[in-house]
Amino acid sequence: IVVLDNVKKSFGAVTVLHGVSFSVEKGQVMALIGASGSGKSTALRCIDRLEQIDSGRIEVCGHQVADPALELRKLRLDVGIVFQSYNLFPHLTVEQNITLGPVSVKRMPKSEARQVASDVLAKVGLADKASAYPEQLSGGQQQRAAIARSLAMQPKVMLFDEVTSALDPKLTGEVLRVIEQLANSGMTMIMVTHEMNFARRIADKIVFMHEGKVHEQGGPEILSAPATPELRDFVSNEL
Ligand code: ATP
Ligand code: MG
Repeated sequence: IVVLDNVKKSFGAVTVLHGVSFSVEKGQVMALIGASGSGKSTALRCIDRLEQIDSGRIEVCGHQVADPALELRKLRLDVGIVFQSYNLFPHLTVEQNITLGPVSVKRMPKSEARQVASDVLAKVGLADKASAYPEQLSGGQQQRAAIARSLAMQPKVMLFDEVTSALDPKLTGEVLRVIEQLANSGMTMIMVTHEMNFARRIADKIVFMHEGKVHEQGGPEILSAPATPELRDFVSNEL
């Protein structure tokens, strides 16, 4: 459902992705790990075409992402992305934040969108916060609201970029539980994370990036028995 094939990306003279290849199948959970600056966020942003690649191929849900003729709207209907910063609209309630996309992009009737909002808020454990404003929520609640907003668009793939790294441990746990439930419900997802124990528990596949390349990949067992010294060092620093 997501395929990267020899993807290269430079910013000016700096090459950030040196031919990255990996794939995720429908229903799979992939954890993308690696040191700061290894290119994880860039790879994720290329998948949603927030960045255009220089060469190689990316296919997502049948869309050829690098094709200049691609309709971004169609791609983004299929891909949900959640970042470390929640980016909720501060002047809208949680429910309004969630119904905005379905109503404006999918032309969903308001009443139906409100039903969707109530369903996704229940999923993330915020059923009672529909009429709250973002500033009235904790960081973990805001992040869960941001996940709910993405889910309301009924994406086929979810991308998470270090969604818990701005949160303290208790709030991190709340958000990770929501992601875990989503994984168990069969959502296809790619998550960039530094939570090694979480990755080991829920990921079907681990992709370790090092200096803009996929250095090692495999099942969660590679975290316990790394084949390369780079992954071994990375894991021992994270734990
Ligand atoms: P982190 O764990 O710190 O989030 P990362 O693996 O997500 O790191 P990226 O954000 O993909 O790393 O960045 C990889 C490299 O690309 C870094 O050296 C960064 O400075 C550079 N880079 C990223 N975005 C840009 C940009 N828009 N312009 C120039 N350089 C960039
Ligand atoms: Mg990053």
